[in-house]
Amino acid sequence: LMQIAIPLNFIGFIYREIRQGLADIEEMFALLRVPAEITDKPDAAALQVQDAAIRFENVTFHYDESRPILKGVDFEVPAGKTVAIVGPSGAGKSTISRLLFRFYDVTGGRVTIDGQDVRDVTQASLREAIGMVPQDTVLFNESIAYNIRYGRVNATDAEIREAARMAQIHDFIETLPEGFATEVGERGLKLSGGEKQRVAIARTILKAPPVLILDEATSALDTHTEREIQSALDHVSQNRTTLVIAHRLSTVVNAHQIIVLEGGRIAERGTHSELLEANGLYASMWARQREADEAEERLRAVRAAD
Ligand code: ATP
Repeated sequence: LMQIAIPLNFIGFIYREIRQGLADIEEMFALLRVPAEITDKPDAAALQVQDAAIRFENVTFHYDESRPILKGVDFEVPAGKTVAIVGPSGAGKSTISRLLFRFYDVTGGRVTIDGQDVRDVTQASLREAIGMVPQDTVLFNESIAYNIRYGRVNATDAEIREAARMAQIHDFIETLPEGFATEVGERGLKLSGGEKQRVAIARTILKAPPVLILDEATSALDTHTEREIQSALDHVSQNRTTLVIAHRLSTVVNAHQIIVLEGGRIAERGTHSELLEANGLYASMWARQREADEAEERLRAVRAAD
């Protein structure tokens, strides 16, 4: 009997050691507040994109257990349509885009693309299907052409020019000393936030993903730049399933549906005109934004007159 008991005891010892080790790792992640690494399931399959319809089903999420961020969020982005998420700062808008891209896993409910849970598919296939235009684009210390071509490495020069044209950045690039060969980034020419974002849009146009996430710049852009970016975005989102994370309201007027997020819950949803009519949170946010824009315009006029 002893001959069996000793090895069993030993196995028990090893088991407890491993359990403790795992607990320590969990604790370490909790302390560092970094998410436990997102990994593919052993049997993960590639995402099969048909129409690229997105669904958030009763999604709950927290970064830190003590502070729920999303408290049961339910919506869909039908194939080829544009849905915009708006709401006060800190409402959880960007978090929604991070869950779709699976930077984090939901803590309840699920996120699907064409019925497939994003946790069940390979991350490589998920990220292949999604184009992300982030708030702050980081460019490589390389030429503008390189930075655009990154969207599809085998693109021709003509395709790069065409993408730049659609992104409303082509003519600007032509004014640079070396055109598309101009080096940009830390060591090269510094581009403005709006210019960088248009380079990112050109890159995404080349990638031509079935799903698009646009995380709009928080900072106020001047009216002219904003209009140019808007027209570039309209181009890239046409007939493509698009989720817009809108930190300003001016860009969401044409969305098929606007979702108003407040305190981790959907407070209202509808088109721009439906929401104005409802005269709720969106309508008051809209009025406030209009006042702020008008004040800014007046300030500009005064400055120009000086
Ligand atoms: P804004 O319009 O100001 O960008 P938002 O609605 O996009 O806001 P999120 O970025 O989704 O807001 O953040 C929602 C909440 O989650 C915020 O209170 C934020 O402080 C918190 N948060 C965001 N990222 C993390 C993180 N990595 N760890 C912990 N908390 C986070």
